[in-house]
Amino acid sequence: MTDAAALPGQPRGGVIDGTGTTRAVCVLAPNPSPMTLDGTNTWIVAEPDSSLAVVIDPGPLDEGHLRKVIATVERTGRRVALTLLTHGHADHAEGAARFAELTGTAVRALDPALRLGDEGLTAGDVITTGGLELRVVPTPGHTADSLSFHLPADAAVLTGDTILGRGTTMVAHPDGRLGDYLDSLRRLRSLTVDDGVHTVLPGHGPVLDDAQGAVEYYLAHRAKRLAQVETAVENGHRTASEVVAHVYADVDRTLWPAAELSVRAQLEYLEEHGLV
Ligand SMILES: [Zn+2]
Repeated sequence: MTDAAALPGQPRGGVIDGTGTTRAVCVLAPNPSPMTLDGTNTWIVAEPDSSLAVVIDPGPLDEGHLRKVIATVERTGRRVALTLLTHGHADHAEGAARFAELTGTAVRALDPALRLGDEGLTAGDVITTGGLELRVVPTPGHTADSLSFHLPADAAVLTGDTILGRGTTMVAHPDGRLGDYLDSLRRLRSLTVDDGVHTVLPGHGPVLDDAQGAVEYYLAHRAKRLAQVETAVENGHRTASEVVAHVYADVDRTLWPAAELSVRAQLEYLEEHGLV
């Protein structure tokens, strides 16, 4: 879900398709909505001199989009060697089985139910397809199975729905948990501070060139929302829907169902920490 506030960093124009870094290029899926912004970003990642490409998040089950991703890979003289998922939400993962069928590739994900083939993905795994190096970074919180992928050669991180190119994301309670999400943001911050990551390649919205600024903004936003929820509860707004109507009054109503999940996650966090 999104808020109106602008993010730090300079989004590279309004057109997402084709943007990225030296090793990563985006193919935008045709599924725009208030929840998916311009649509899902399917990322193709490859070493410049390699004939093999890795595809991250094939996106929705849209035959035209899946074939466009394959054609984009083949135009560069490559073939798809592996498919990865940042998490299991349908707008990222629904097309994965069909994409695997079209490309003859395995699908690797944290959640065993999403995998096709023998290999999963766990924290600390390093993908080395065609000389490419992608480090698996666990970033639960948006969902329990959310992963990010660190692309050190481009000083970039692919964040799925953990950080978006515009606005802020939702914590999809009960699967997503706020404490996990805050830990994940701090893990991403340490990538920017200790490992020199400066580019965010998000699951939706434009590329961000100030990764640390984006993480700091997300942490500040979550702290602000949590304080607002705490105050709302203290003022007698007891149910999640009452809190949403009070705290998210400035947010488009089509996003209130998503906001309610985030509020449930925040209420759980406040209760667990003895704050309400
Ligand atoms: Zn998602």
